Amino acid sequence: MKSKAKPEKLPPPFEQKQPRKPMRMCVACRVRKEKKDLIRIAKNDQGIWSIDSTKTMQRRGAYVCPLEACKMKAKKNKQYSTIDL
Ligand SMILES: [Zn+2]
Repeated sequence: MKSKAKPEKLPPPFEQKQPRKPMRMCVACRVRKEKKDLIRIAKNDQGIWSIDSTKTMQRRGAYVCPLEACKMKAKKNKQYSTIDL
């Protein structure tokens, strides 16, 4: 029996560094997705929701999937009825 047993190198305990991706929820299907997979919409002064393509509008924003089904669903939502997609 060897007295000088080398201490086994243990793997780091659950330190899998996963970059945190910004997640946002689609207002239509309520599914959380990556921000980049969603369309950002923002409300303007006229209360019209439109696509915030610049993503810099400092307004009340929301996110919706780039799917027709979700766009339609969002339009049916009272809160986003003025959506222009
Ligand atoms: Zn959706």
